[in-house]
Amino acid sequence: MSWELPSRISLREVGPRDGLQNEDPVPTEAKVALVDLLSRTGVQRIEAVSFVRPSAIPQMADAPEVWKQISRDPSVRYSALVPNLRGAVRALDAGFTELEAVVSASQTHNLKNVNRTTGESLEEIAHLIGLAHSRGATVQVIVSTAWGCPYEGDVAEQRVVSVASRAVASGADSVSFGDTTGMATPTRVRSLVFAFRSALPDVPLNLHFHNTRGTGLANVLAALELGVRDFDASVGGLGGCPYAPGATGNIATEELVHMAEDMGVATGIDLGALLDASAEAERIVGHRLPSQVLRAGPRTRTIPA
Ligand code: ZN
Repeated sequence: MSWELPSRISLREVGPRDGLQNEDPVPTEAKVALVDLLSRTGVQRIEAVSFVRPSAIPQMADAPEVWKQISRDPSVRYSALVPNLRGAVRALDAGFTELEAVVSASQTHNLKNVNRTTGESLEEIAHLIGLAHSRGATVQVIVSTAWGCPYEGDVAEQRVVSVASRAVASGADSVSFGDTTGMATPTRVRSLVFAFRSALPDVPLNLHFHNTRGTGLANVLAALELGVRDFDASVGGLGGCPYAPGATGNIATEELVHMAEDMGVATGIDLGALLDASAEAERIVGHRLPSQVLRAGPRTRTIPA
């Protein structure tokens, strides 16, 4: 019996940015401490901060300070999310060499989020990529609402692929599909990954799932079976769903690591160190996080007979 899965995958820890951006603001020192703990888990990539307008997202107002104060591990690739050209300039000036730019596949979602059409966002992203490349940085374009939109419902797969194709035509170094409100199921994951690969066979693909409706890890498994190797996850499952108060958002990094490692898919991450970081994340935000592995411990944990 053979089950073909990648022997190794690369996780991007998004708790410090995507996670904390959807929680009440926490002190700079706490963010720095969390990134430092995560840097020592063996994780390959960390989405550290975003350079957004402080009046729009106060949670990220201290991005430059956080970036200055963390103890950067040379084996970790740190990235910054930038909403526009101005954010990209700030991130590049701060020394980031990996940027993430976002556009929503759903027109309504994009208009609600940044007051621009998808086409207008793609135009700005083209300039942003040009600027980043001229300064030696790479840009991943995140296509959000890739499996559905809270306003429009289903988003046509063709539209998602065409948005990704336009970003790649503008020079995007890689693409990430975001399941913004947890609408993906394994069949839909297979379908979109196939469609993407048919259109853009050589473009690296990262996937960002939410566990809003309990399908997060099932979606990861479906993607692993197709050989996808790059995934986002958030320590503890930090960061709720911005459209459904109290609902779960990001999949928990330790749940993904726990499942993948037991299936022979290496992540390079030390689960014990990650669980320590998860406990610290819970302490920082002051409430229970949705991670089930944080509650139950690894499957090999035993109790006295
Ligand atoms: Zn997310």
